[in-house]
Amino acid sequence: MTARAIIDLDAFRHNVRVLAAIAAPSATMLAVKANAYGHGMLELAPIALESGASSLAVLDIPAALALREAGVTAPLFAWLHGLKSDFGAAARAGVELGVSSVHELEAIEAARPGHPVRVHLKIDTGLHRNGASPEEWPALVTAALAAEKRGAVTVFGAWSHLADASEEEDAAALAALHEAIAVAEALGARFSMVHLAASSAGIRMPEARLDLVRFGIAAYGISPFDDITGRELGLIAVMTLVTTVTSVEAGAATIGVGFGDGLAGGALPRAEAWAGGARARILSIGVDESVIEAHNLSVGDEVVLFGTGDAGEPTAEEWANWADSIGDEIVVRIAQRVERVYTD
Ligand SMILES: *Cc1c(COP(=O)(O)O)cnc(C)c1O
Repeated sequence: MTARAIIDLDAFRHNVRVLAAIAAPSATMLAVKANAYGHGMLELAPIALESGASSLAVLDIPAALALREAGVTAPLFAWLHGLKSDFGAAARAGVELGVSSVHELEAIEAARPGHPVRVHLKIDTGLHRNGASPEEWPALVTAALAAEKRGAVTVFGAWSHLADASEEEDAAALAALHEAIAVAEALGARFSMVHLAASSAGIRMPEARLDLVRFGIAAYGISPFDDITGRELGLIAVMTLVTTVTSVEAGAATIGVGFGDGLAGGALPRAEAWAGGARARILSIGVDESVIEAHNLSVGDEVVLFGTGDAGEPTAEEWANWADSIGDEIVVRIAQRVERVYTD
């Protein structure tokens, strides 16, 4: 177990700048959920904010509080809540909250925030992953406006999330969002921020950029599409996973990384590594170690599992292809025990 994930901060900076320029004049919110897709939330959050993002998407309140504790003062958006969510702490920390139901609004008000909490009302436009259905939407808007009158919340945003399943579905979701806004405005709501697009629509669907694009995976240099690579989009892969040769025998070498480190076993039998200046087939993946086909390797030699692809090494996108998965999963799975090394 000698694996390290090298995180190229310059590549991340570059990607955020490229994406913010694509989104402009819409604002850029950078998704740093899942510990910044396995790259390290606390390390990458300030860089995102220096490089063109004006806010961060964090999934839940504890992650937002961790960022506040680390000194991040930018707007933070958390939208996944449960019975134990600490809305009082979120209010004190000035975290903006995605709200999917009247029940969540009531829980926010019950936490006696002391000042109006900025809420973004979520409409389900077809993904069916929380959000108010078109039937529930008028009641959610009405409850939010009433809570606003009582000083508990500020009705700030309206938003949804795309399934990215097909162009037709995304277009229908955008139309459903516009319809929901019209319904809400007829009830008296006025939204400062309407947002829908993540990486995919942010890049390919200009009409979905609205006030703000919530970029995630693309900022880490991985394409949200399967017909074009991150490199072809002008992005640079941020994470490079390396390890070393731990023993050699005739025609094979054992390397210090396995599925305990998050390597995707499902990528066999197609998976390859980069060793000794050439592609080497991965023969087996164990918990802590794997075996690659190799000649002329010595103990201690570096082996690259995935990286930018510039030197010939595989990319996370290739791993995703081999494992019949998506690039997000390849990097997010890289285990906590793998040391992150930040280079600038
Ligand atoms: C993960 C997520 C994003 C970012 O998605 P990508 O496809 O990685 O760009 C944006 N918004 C929400 C609500 C998300 O859950």
